[in-house]
Formats: sequence, structure tokens, C-alpha cells
Amino acid sequence: MYFNLEVCLLIGIIMAKNYNIRIEYLERIKNMLASFGEEEYDYDVGRLELLIERLKSNFTIDADDAEDILVQLDTDMFFWHDYRRFFPKVKEFYNDGIVVSDQFRCKFAPLDISHDELIDLTRTFFKEQGEFFVKHFDHALRDAENHISFIEPNDGTAGEMYYIKALNEVFLFIPDTKKVDMLYTFAHESEHAIDMDANPTYYENCGIRETSTLFMEMVASDYYNEKFNLGIQGFYNQFSNLTSIKLDTNDLIERQRMLKLYKKIADYSDEAIMKRLHNKWSQRDLDLRKDYSLVTLYFYQIPYLTAIELYKIYKTDREKALYILTDIILNGTDQNIFSLLNKHGISLNKNAFEYEKSLVLKYDSLEKDTK
Ligand SMILES: [Zn+2]
Repeated sequence: MYFNLEVCLLIGIIMAKNYNIRIEYLERIKNMLASFGEEEYDYDVGRLELLIERLKSNFTIDADDAEDILVQLDTDMFFWHDYRRFFPKVKEFYNDGIVVSDQFRCKFAPLDISHDELIDLTRTFFKEQGEFFVKHFDHALRDAENHISFIEPNDGTAGEMYYIKALNEVFLFIPDTKKVDMLYTFAHESEHAIDMDANPTYYENCGIRETSTLFMEMVASDYYNEKFNLGIQGFYNQFSNLTSIKLDTNDLIERQRMLKLYKKIADYSDEAIMKRLHNKWSQRDLDLRKDYSLVTLYFYQIPYLTAIELYKIYKTDREKALYILTDIILNGTDQNIFSLLNKHGISLNKNAFEYEKSLVLKYDSLEKDTK
């Protein structure tokens, strides 16, 4: 009996696939694309450079961090120009009267499954969402062993996807937390892979590309809860997305204020600009905001509000929600998103308040129970 078990374990080890995206491979395709000297490959080469830097530091270093706040504000001016029209909807959500706790920390339970099983489960999840999803899942991850890495968990990343358009290849990096959150993270990142495979230009539309991933996280929370009786776990995932997105909005509003002032005084000398900024914000505030673009928070805000509306439809008419989502993936752009939603009869913030309220009520009752 003992012997047999050992043989089984051994076979299991031999059969288990080794998922590993190798730096040498990334270097090779980067050099190859760069050697063509074509402008159309510049973006891919830049992405690969960033990825290699991040991979070398186990995703703790952001290679594109700005050196100072003025450089960051300059960069943000470009984003702001494109995304400021999203602001009224975001602000409406922020000002809906519900305050979320910044004290919440997810308590995910251990998950004792292999990487192969995780990938299989995710594939089954997408298969249940329909042929469109599983077809692109299979194609995007056709050489999974060389395109998925399970990385050492750290605060620098919650999972990442890189798409190299010239080669139509996706690379997924999943923190190997060995906890239930891996189910949601893997659903999120492989939805990105599905989207890229279905429409390579979707990614360029930064303001909407997280729609499908945030929606699938919501659906996956319920799906795995039903399948494995995960109890509170699915709620944790939905509540943690709510809290981080809502708390980020606060920073976004602050950044808007900063950009408005910056726009007015952009022609001043650097010293004079800093002086004016310091009149309103402390050094600590400015330091907090220099590292990364807060305007990129828009990449999550509008998609989140859209995902809530789709999720609400999904509960009563699954096919309809998935049909609209597919339309967004295939035809949505930063420019047309509001008219596309309008075409499907979706108005943002219609169900956000109710959705948010139910999560907050559940959180409050849980807090009470643990006291
Ligand atoms: Zn994402």
C-alpha cells in the first residue's frame, strides 16, 4: 500500500507540468523584434523591457516609476486629457454616501490544489461561460508551460498579464499564494489573455480593458462558492475589489485637483511650480503621488461600474450579460464605450449603490459576529 502510494506520487510529480516563463526567451523575442527596427514594434519592445526588469526583481520594481512629481504630472496630463470625461460617473459613485472601511484585510483560506488543477478548473469555468471564452482561452494558452509563471507572492503585484501584439503571445504571472485568491486571480489574468486573443486592440483601450476581468472575478466568486462551498471566500474577493477601487477614488480626486492647478501654472519655473504645490500639499503627499500615475486609476473605475451592471444582468439573464460583454471585448473602445453601453440599455451607477450596500451590510454583520 505504502509502496503504491509512493509510486502514484512519483508519477504525479513526473506528469505535473512545469510552468515557467524564461527570461532568456523574453530577451530573445525582444532582441528579435528590436532588430527589425520597425516603429510598429516599439511598444512591444518597451513592454518586454519592462517585463524583464520586473521579472528580474520578482515584480518589486516598477521600471517606469517617475523620478519626480513634475515628470509624473506631465505624463498624467496626457491621460487626463483622454479620461477626464469619465470623471463625473466616477465621482457620482464615490459620492453615493457609502463609506467603505480601509481596515479590511482579506482572509483567504488555504487552497490545496496543483497548478495543473488550477488551470483545469479555470478552463472549466470559462467553458461554462460559453464557446467564445473557452476557445480563446485554449488558443491564448496553447503553450501554457512557457506562458504562465507562478511567482513568489509579494506586495508588488496581484498578478499580471503581458501581451506581445507582434507575436500574438500572452504571458501570465500569478502570485503563488496557495490560497483561494488564486482562483480569482487566475480567472482575472486569463480573461485578459482571452480578450487579447479575441481582439488585439482591446488592450490599447486602457479605460475599458478591465471591464471583462472585473466582471469575471465577480462571476467566478459565485461560481467557485457554489462549486466548492467556499462560504465567505467569494464575498472577500468582491469586497476587497470594492474597497480598493473606492478608496483609490479618493486619490484620484486629489490628483484631479493637482492637475487642475498644474495646468494653470505649467509655464512657471520648476521651482515656482513646486512652491505652489507645496502650498496645498505636504512633501509626504507629493512623495506618495510621484511614484505612479494616479490617473491610471481610471483604468479600473469605469470598468468596475460597467462590471457591476453586467453582473446584475448576469444574475437574471446570463446569456444577455455575456452577449453584451462579448460586444464590449470585440467592439468597445475608450471613445465609444458610453454609446455602446447605451445601445444595450445600460446606464452606469444604476445598480452600483445597491450592490455596494449589500456588500457593506454583509461586512458589518461579519464584523459584529467576530466581536
Ligand atoms: Zn487586470
